[in-house]
Amino acid sequence: MRLVEKLRVTPGRTVKLGEYETDVTPGFKQKPDVDEILRETAAKMAELQYLMFAENKRSLLIVLQAMDTGGKDGTIRHVMTGLNPAGVQVTSFKVPSELERRHDFLWRIHQAVPPRGDFGIFNRSHYEDVIVVRVHDLVPREIWKKRYETINQFERHLVENDVTILKFFLHISRAEQKRRIQARIDEPTKCWKLSPADFAERKFWNDYQEAYADALTKCSTPWAPWFIIPADRKWFRNLAVAEIMLETLQSLKMKFPKASFDPSKLKLR
Ligand code: AMP
Ligand code: MG
Repeated sequence: MRLVEKLRVTPGRTVKLGEYETDVTPGFKQKPDVDEILRETAAKMAELQYLMFAENKRSLLIVLQAMDTGGKDGTIRHVMTGLNPAGVQVTSFKVPSELERRHDFLWRIHQAVPPRGDFGIFNRSHYEDVIVVRVHDLVPREIWKKRYETINQFERHLVENDVTILKFFLHISRAEQKRRIQARIDEPTKCWKLSPADFAERKFWNDYQEAYADALTKCSTPWAPWFIIPADRKWFRNLAVAEIMLETLQSLKMKFPKASFDPSKLKLR
């Protein structure tokens, strides 16, 4: 089965994250020549990126969510290398600023949606407003409860405006997170990535998993599917995201626009 089907959360399905393995590598018995595959995939993706820009009709939005150390940054670095940077916008969503907090939660998100012709990558997203916000009671339950439906309607609106949306949850185990935090402690070139918050948040592991399961259940829709990517092995994570992106781009059947003039009648002097 293709990864795009195998890893997609079927709309309506109740997700229990414990049932999803984090260290499997479906389709690969052993580690392949990952760099080679990623290079080939990237070259094909770059051609389709060019086509999307030429067509100027639609855009692609990638949403990345994960537990701390889940690999959002690494995925962007490895999978998006080879694309034309002029047509890619990466937006990292942090704790909302004072101005952002004075608006509805989708205000800052909508502004970052890629315009026609472009790719957009969200490093965290509007899903934080039903994840971290829920885990830490940052707004009352009655408010965040309504957001799942709001998010589904918002994403439907975007899709109706020719934004193709792919949402990836990079799924790591608690043990793998421990290894990654330990590696950051031990390794002077990784230490900077650690924040005391990462230790503190680890205590809320179960609450986060529950919040994620709920978001994946309620917001994997036919128009904007969630994918659960087994992400303990970074190489598989990268290959899976790249393959799903490429297949989706190919399925759009984009075409170069026709010239607005008859080139055979044109004489260059
Ligand atoms: P990092 O991605 O490590 O730079 O951290 C960004 C931080 O911003 C994380 O701790 C997120 O939980 C937090 N964050 C992102 N979006 C929101 C939000 N809507 N409300 C509260 N915190 C958020
Ligand atoms: Mg962090």
